[in-house]
Amino acid sequence: MVGLAIHGGAGGDGPWKGPTDLDPQRIACMHNVLATVGSMLEDGIDALEAVTIAVEMMENEPLFNAGIGSVIAADGSVTMDASIMRGSDAAAGSVVNVKKVRHPIRAAKLVLDNNWPVMLNGQGADDFAIRNGVEEVSQEWLITDLRQAQWKKWKAAKSRPGSTDEDDEAMLDHDTDGMGTVGAVAIDSKGVLAAATSTGGMTGKPNGRIGDTAIIGAGTWADNRVAVSCTGVGEAFIRTCAAHEVASRLRLGESLTEACENMLEMVAPLGGRGGVIAIDCNGHIEIPFQTMLMYRGFWKDGEIMTGIGPDLTSQ
Ligand code: ASP
Repeated sequence: MVGLAIHGGAGGDGPWKGPTDLDPQRIACMHNVLATVGSMLEDGIDALEAVTIAVEMMENEPLFNAGIGSVIAADGSVTMDASIMRGSDAAAGSVVNVKKVRHPIRAAKLVLDNNWPVMLNGQGADDFAIRNGVEEVSQEWLITDLRQAQWKKWKAAKSRPGSTDEDDEAMLDHDTDGMGTVGAVAIDSKGVLAAATSTGGMTGKPNGRIGDTAIIGAGTWADNRVAVSCTGVGEAFIRTCAAHEVASRLRLGESLTEACENMLEMVAPLGGRGGVIAIDCNGHIEIPFQTMLMYRGFWKDGEIMTGIGPDLTSQ
């Protein structure tokens, strides 16, 4: 039994108004990821490589907030966070505020493979990744016109970048255009679970800000029971160790459905609007969210489902 779930970020308040002009491209990307990586899992690829490839494919899509097309920080630059974890041995890797690599998740996977340390930051992380073969790219290459327009809008509106999270004025990348952070969770044919998450963070984030996506236990978690990837206002997910909270709740006997819902209930009062994808050791998948939308989908037994608003449709 193998399985894969992915997300492309959550965002927005109120009822979903239906797909935007840009959404078919995002759905096509998710479909391609699920079909490609789903078959690879069936063919025996391991869960860690599966989630790495799934996230790399979404990092390549400029309409998601990861890799090319990442949102722009207050100082006008793109800085990206990514983390990855394997459940069977608690191996983990993370890169923080990288600026020069095409695939932050591959960089995080290399950190994991290297065994020590677990997290690398800034220039050191970029240097390590490039030295180990991750493609080097320029800031000009990473920044798209769409993100520049969003950043200008943010500057003009002087929106809060999410530095305080109770005021609920935090600006998620997807609040302006319904798109976001990417993540994947998988179980492979040996029953090993893995999770990966990658992001440009939040539009207008202050220089040096680190979100939940880089933090093992907050944005990403995997153990022998479950693999989890979160998206939303990162500060609230950090303050609740959100991804790990799902695992703790399972250990206490909650079902996967209850564990995910109850975690989101804990995060919400701290301003943590968002969502989560999780897969357990029985291949059961949960994808709840508390925002207007979440780009999401899963592959199971050859069936592909994707969705943006409340409903999932079979592809
Ligand atoms: N969690 C991400 C962050 O705070 C943002 C997102 O999921 O869209 O950096």
